[in-house]
Amino acid sequence: MSRRPLIAGNWKMHKTVGEAVSLVRELRENLKDVDDRDILVCPPFTAIKAVADQLEGSNIKVGGQDMFWEDSGAYTGEISADMLKDAGATFVIIGHSERRKYFGETNETVNKKIKKALEKGLIPIMCVGETLEQREEGKAFDVVTDHVLGGLEGLSAEQVKKVAIAYEPVWAIGTGKTATPEDADAMHAHIRKLLNEKWGVGEEVIILYGGSVKPENIDSLMAMENIDGALVGGASLKADSFTRIVKFKK
Ligand code: PEP
Repeated sequence: MSRRPLIAGNWKMHKTVGEAVSLVRELRENLKDVDDRDILVCPPFTAIKAVADQLEGSNIKVGGQDMFWEDSGAYTGEISADMLKDAGATFVIIGHSERRKYFGETNETVNKKIKKALEKGLIPIMCVGETLEQREEGKAFDVVTDHVLGGLEGLSAEQVKKVAIAYEPVWAIGTGKTATPEDADAMHAHIRKLLNEKWGVGEEVIILYGGSVKPENIDSLMAMENIDGALVGGASLKADSFTRIVKFKK
């Protein structure tokens, strides 16, 4: 089963509209010949439309960093799936560890958002991963099992196939520490086993690694059998480093 690689940039709370447009102008030019992998950028909400307009007709897709599970209503500060699509997004990151840590995201809210994203035809990238404390206590696999099964609860096999999963050990995000390719691959294999046991789709789901991915470590990560791509934070904010990551060597 061949899974098309996906390299996604999560810009977090960075880039004004002007900065965002100038970054994607460079990326569009640098990456125009790449046709054997998917490329995604996830700007802050305010820049999605301008970025999508700038990337129209290119090989770079656009995603949101979060969304709400209701269609519309009195939910001050929230953004709906339809609003993301209207602005030009086709993907959405759900359940990033920063949302779990600072904004009360839980498996239940992740599950509601995934269901709504799928209903609306957005591709969700569901983030899962353990903290350093949980890893040191030997609970990493249990925590990831809980995130995967909780976030995907109630979904059919057909729906699960449309979700991308990002394994992001919290201790590796923004810290410069990367999981070894072998450790990351072992967790990805564990996730595939879970998806196989419950839905029979483990070989078909795209599983990304995230956590201090850089030009220096992308090739060894992508060499692993179960790693289909990367969710990149800090190194996605500069055209040269993101370009090199997208152009990982097989
Ligand atoms: C992320 O934001 O999902 C991430 C992995 O960040 P960084 O690459 O900066 O560790």
